[in-house]
Amino acid sequence: MYLTQGLHRSAATTPNRAATVFGDRVRTFAEQIDRVARLAAGLHSIGVEPGDRVAMLAFNSDRYSEYLLAVPWADAVLNPVNIRWSPVEVAYALNDSDTKVLLVDDTFGAMVPALRPACAGLQTIVYCGDGATPEGMVSYEDLVSSHDPIPDARRSGDALAGLFYTGGTTGFPKGVMLSHANLVTSGLGTVATGQLLDDASILLHAAPMFHLADLAAWVGQVMLGGTHVMVPFFEPTAVLGAIAKHSITDVLLVPTMIQLLVDHPTLSEFDTSSLSRVLYGGSPISAGVLERTLARLPQARLTQAYGMTELAPVASLLWPEHHVGERIGSAGRAAPHSEIQILGPDDEQLATGSVGEICVRGGHVMLGYWNKPDETAAAIRNGWMHTGDVGYLDADGFLFVVDRLKDMIITGGENVYSAEVESALSLHPSVLACAVIGVPDGEWGERVHACVVLAEGTSPTVEELRDHTRSYVAGYKTPRTVEFVTALPMSGAGKILKRELRDAHVAKDA
Ligand code: AMP
Ligand code: MG
Repeated sequence: MYLTQGLHRSAATTPNRAATVFGDRVRTFAEQIDRVARLAAGLHSIGVEPGDRVAMLAFNSDRYSEYLLAVPWADAVLNPVNIRWSPVEVAYALNDSDTKVLLVDDTFGAMVPALRPACAGLQTIVYCGDGATPEGMVSYEDLVSSHDPIPDARRSGDALAGLFYTGGTTGFPKGVMLSHANLVTSGLGTVATGQLLDDASILLHAAPMFHLADLAAWVGQVMLGGTHVMVPFFEPTAVLGAIAKHSITDVLLVPTMIQLLVDHPTLSEFDTSSLSRVLYGGSPISAGVLERTLARLPQARLTQAYGMTELAPVASLLWPEHHVGERIGSAGRAAPHSEIQILGPDDEQLATGSVGEICVRGGHVMLGYWNKPDETAAAIRNGWMHTGDVGYLDADGFLFVVDRLKDMIITGGENVYSAEVESALSLHPSVLACAVIGVPDGEWGERVHACVVLAEGTSPTVEELRDHTRSYVAGYKTPRTVEFVTALPMSGAGKILKRELRDAHVAKDA
C-alpha cells in the first residue's frame, strides 16, 4: 500500500470527477494525476533524489494536495512544516531533517530571507503561490508545465513516506517517521466502518494540512476517491461560506475550531444542512463545547478521534451513536486497525477502570523518531507506543483520556487532571474557553490555576466560577486562582500551549 494508490484508481474510474476545489479552481482526477506526475518530474529536474526530504510551508490549497502526492510519486520524503512556527523553529526542522527543497506560498515566502542563511543544506525554494515568482525562487507551475509525466515510484508499504515534526506542546520538536503503510492503515481504518467519508463525499480541509489530524482525513479521502475542497486557513465565516457554497459533507475540525464555529454569531445565517459528518479530535474537547455542537449542528453526525502524530494519527474513535450518557466523555473504542492497553509504571497491564499510561499497538505505529534512536526506544517498548497520555478503559473497551502526563497537576500531594477541571469549568455559560494549569505555590507545591476566556458581555465573579466548578469536581481540584484572558495561546494545530501559559505565569510572579 502506498499513498498515491487511491489517485490511480480515481483517475481510472472517475477521471472527470473533481479531485480538488480551491476558490474557483477545479481540477479533475485526470488533471490531477497528470499534474502530479509532471510535478514529480519537475522535482527530479531540480535535483531531488530518492529519499530526499521535500518540505512545504504554506496555507491549505489544491497545491498542498498535489505536493502530498507528487513527493512520494518522485520517491522523495514529505516534510510538511508547521505554519505557526517562528523562523527559528522552521530552520530547526529543516536542518534537523536535512531538507534540500522547500515549497512556500505568498505568505511564507516572507520567511525565506531569514531561512536561507540559517539553513545551509537548503538548495532550492519553490514558489507555489498565484503571483509572480519572486527573485531566486523556482516557479511551481513551471515545474508542472515544463516536464513530461514520469511513472509513480509506487514504494512498498514499509518505505518512509514523510517526516512530521510534532506540535511542540512539550519539549523540542521531533521528526516522526511515518511509512506509507502507517498512513494508509490509519486513514483506511478510520473510514472502514462507513461512519465517515465515502466516494461521494466532499471533504473540507479547514484545519491546517501539515498536521496529521487533517492528513488522516486526507488519506482516507484519497483512498476512497471523493472530492477535496480547501480553504487557506480556519476562519469561521470562510468555513461556513465554503460549507454552504460547495455542499460540504465532511469536515475535520480540532476542538478549538468547533468552538469558534458553533459559538459564531452568524452560524444560523449559513446553510450547513449538507454537513452530515464532523470528525474532531487532536486535543480534549470540553463537555460544554460538545453540548453546544450537538445542539447547534443537529444534522451532523459527530465522530471523535484520539491519537497522535506517532500513530499516523488515529488510535480510537467515538462513533456518533456513542455521543450519549457517560460515553460522551470518552474517546471511543480502539479503531479497527489499533489495539489499546493501559500500562502501569513498570509496563504492567492495569485492570479495567485503573488509570495509567495509554499504550497503542498496530500497523500505524511510527517507524521511529528521525535520528533519535534513544527517544524511539523509550517511546516504543515491546511494540507498544507509549503515548504520554494517561487514561483508562471501561468494561466495554471505551477509552477515557484523563490528561497528558505532563499536564497533570500535583497539589498538596493530590493528582489533579487538568482536562477534568476544564470540562467542569467549561459548562458555565460565561466560559468560552479555558485552560487549567499547575503553577508554583508556596503552600501546595502546585496550585490549580485557571485561565478563562469569557463570552462577550458576561462578567462572572471568580467565586461564581469556583462554586460552579466545585459542583462537579472535588474541592482540591477546583481552581484556587482564576485569571481572565482575551485569548489562549494556540499551536499550529489549535492545541492550547499550556507550557506558554505556565511560563507566562512564572514570569509574572517573578
Ligand atoms: P500531536 O503530537 O499533535 O499529534 O498531539 C497528540 C496529543 O494530542 C495526544 O498525545 C493527546 O494528548 C492529545 N489528543 C489527541 N486527540 C485527543 C482526544 N480525542 N482527546 C484528548 N486528547 C487528545
Ligand atoms: Mg506530540
